[in-house]
Amino acid sequence: MGTFTFLFSDLSIMKKIAVFPGSFDPVTRGHQNIVERAAPLFDEVIVALGINTSKQSMFPSEQRLEWLKQTFAHVPNVRVVSFEGLTVDFCKKNEARYLLRGLRNGGDFEYERTIAHMNKALWNELETVLVFTDPDYASVHSTVIREILKNKGDVSQFVPTSIQLPK
Ligand code: ADP
Repeated sequence: MGTFTFLFSDLSIMKKIAVFPGSFDPVTRGHQNIVERAAPLFDEVIVALGINTSKQSMFPSEQRLEWLKQTFAHVPNVRVVSFEGLTVDFCKKNEARYLLRGLRNGGDFEYERTIAHMNKALWNELETVLVFTDPDYASVHSTVIREILKNKGDVSQFVPTSIQLPK
């Protein structure tokens, strides 16, 4: 019994699962870059589309999920799912002890620090792992992509090559 308990509380033998949550409205080359670079660090990365019913999105969740699946189809240890509710609860349910987030600039840092501390307070075993974006994608924001799209601009250079956004 003692050995059993010991084995299952030994972090070194547990699968390293990270969750990369976001609204992905739409997925960008910045998101793609973070996930592709983080995938070798973990046994599995779950790209988790947060469904927030009170937040207005440009694209329906089914479409955003489909684009995420197309973007990461070539990365074997990446799984794409959607979820509702608290990110920490989703992490617990999936036995994911790492929360992956991308950092573009100081603004992201301040925001991510607050979220990381709040999440740690909610679940002490959760570690937030921050990955700096490749400088090529440091100015890529889903918000700006949506503005360009509303004004009928071409966003193809900002989104993954595998996805086709409406013109
Ligand atoms: P949220 O609605 O939670 O901000 P997003 O879909 O905008 O979700 O972003 C999800 C994650 O991806 C966040 O950690 C965000 O900082 C990161 N991210 C967004 N754009 C980029 C980018 N261009 N480079 C690196 N990370 C990014």
